[in-house]
Amino acid sequence: MAEVTKEKILKILKGIDSGTAGMDVVARNWVNDIVIKNGHVAFTLEVPTEMGPKLEPVRAMAEKAVYNLPGVISVTVVLTAERKAAAASQPQAPAQSGSGRDRLDLPGIKHIVAVASGKGGVGKSTTAANLAVALASQEKRVALFDADIFGPSMPRMLGLSGQKPHSDGTKVYPLENHGVKVMSIGFMVAEDNPVIWRGPMVMGALEQMLKDVAWGDLDVMVVDMPPGTGDTQLTMSQRVPLSGAVIVSTPQDIALLDARKGLNMFRKVEVPILGMIENMSHYICPSCGHRDNIFGSGGAKKMAQELDADFLGDIPLDLKIRETSDSGNPIVIADPESPHAKAYLSIAERVFEKLEDGATKAAPNISMGT
Ligand code: ADP
Repeated sequence: MAEVTKEKILKILKGIDSGTAGMDVVARNWVNDIVIKNGHVAFTLEVPTEMGPKLEPVRAMAEKAVYNLPGVISVTVVLTAERKAAAASQPQAPAQSGSGRDRLDLPGIKHIVAVASGKGGVGKSTTAANLAVALASQEKRVALFDADIFGPSMPRMLGLSGQKPHSDGTKVYPLENHGVKVMSIGFMVAEDNPVIWRGPMVMGALEQMLKDVAWGDLDVMVVDMPPGTGDTQLTMSQRVPLSGAVIVSTPQDIALLDARKGLNMFRKVEVPILGMIENMSHYICPSCGHRDNIFGSGGAKKMAQELDADFLGDIPLDLKIRETSDSGNPIVIADPESPHAKAYLSIAERVFEKLEDGATKAAPNISMGT
């Protein structure tokens, strides 16, 4: 199958007129956050606020053009106006830091931890699912918020596919399995058809999901972030009151470079980095038990050291991890005594300790009113 690349997408989008002074959408600098995952493509068109509603036909044309590229299975194009709106109203304002932006008020939730990656396909969702289930098995009150709107996989990974959360007209009640409350846009759309948002801003929709859900009292909410470090991720890290972030990466250099971007993004918005996890770090032969570092190993550990972040652990590449999470029973549940489950459980313990530690340390800062 033909490979879908950013370059091919941008090339075809150069043919889409923005409807303003004969410039195309790429020349206007509207195209952002391109995510490509197994033939599924998603990106945002960041347009001036006042033009938003008029640009639905342009959005639809862009979607169709990319859909027609060989190798593309589905396309999600989102119109967003948020960043431009802020820039237009404060043209002289300095770059915003995390502390300068209002955070959502989510009372009753003690810690919110983002699980993030610099790019898609590194096992971020698998890690988020296992981490959430591990925390629940350690007697914590846990929710998993699937913010990966470009590829919501939590309904499948938590064994809740095809189910719909109940709503009483005011609040939506999260579904629950393996001791974890789950909310995902995947409950509203089919996973193989991620054509989700037609018009509304991504962040607006995510905020609504966060606020409208009756989460109850929680010790930890694990957020499966959208992959990458674009504006959606940045806004999300600024608006959601994150206590910390965990960065997942694979040993390949490229992924590590991306992970570095992820780490820097959270630092920029003053979200503490709880640490890095190296996923698919090595392969253990199921018949002889031999360990093979197929991609080279230890990259994340080294990078964590270089960047002064904690290394939380490595998870091997193992068919069982894929099979269990893809069938709705993450390995922490399916085989809690296995070394892989133990690795997740020990990471979860560390993460929770760090969250509690951070909460105690953060207190003086708040009282200083900075
Ligand atoms: P991301 O959220 O980063 O896009 P996923 O968690 O969806 O990545 O993982 C992509 C695929 O890789 C899934 O099919 C998942 O089951 C598989 N996978 C993730 N981690 C592992 C692992 N350690 N060993 C084997 N397969 C894995």
